Amino acid sequence: MSTIFIVEDELKLALVLEKYIQAAGYDALIFDRGDVVVDAVREHSPDLILLDIMLPNKDGIEVCKELRAFSDVPIIMVTAKVEEIDRLIGLELGADDYICKPFSPREVVARVKAILKRTTRIEPEKHSAALSSALILDHANFQAALNGTELDLTPIEFKILAALFGPPSAVLNRNALMEHMYSDHRAVSDRTVDSHVANLRKKLKLVNPDAEYIQPVYGVGYRYSEPS
Ligand code: CA
Repeated sequence: MSTIFIVEDELKLALVLEKYIQAAGYDALIFDRGDVVVDAVREHSPDLILLDIMLPNKDGIEVCKELRAFSDVPIIMVTAKVEEIDRLIGLELGADDYICKPFSPREVVARVKAILKRTTRIEPEKHSAALSSALILDHANFQAALNGTELDLTPIEFKILAALFGPPSAVLNRNALMEHMYSDHRAVSDRTVDSHVANLRKKLKLVNPDAEYIQPVYGVGYRYSEPS
């Protein structure tokens, strides 16, 4: 059975969501503050998190950032202000969906189902690194080094880099990258893919400002290549 975390400090609302989520056949766990969520995720490995923004002790934005440093658990951010959604997307938190209050619990359950339906866990594909490359990938630990300098990548950025690095000079479109980014085949917007790629390119540039290792291919996607 899938377990859903409901992170919501309005108890009445949390209980309504719990009822609907349980009726849909899922387990639900309620958390009424932000600072306990990250540890609870490590402990319980939930299948999805409904994450309110305004929370006591630690807000949902901070919680989302901390989770994304080690986990690709699906996250639906919940905000009380519809105008905040654009700002949240701009923050590139790596959330999967956004819901604005007041919402219908039915709509929330529909979105939860839509995301979980795509949850078919597969082993991430392994790529072997070319020995002559400036880039070295450690798939077991999601770590990468460029020119001997370790890159500080999130798991998703690592997967993008590994996907692009795999086949020599292959161009991958955003859908293909999405497949590599998430083991559960979830669909995210092109903009989400682009923002992860943009962050990854920035980190590569920190090591070698003169090179453009990941190149956009107009109308298609992205390609990895090293300066000759
Ligand atoms: Ca709240």
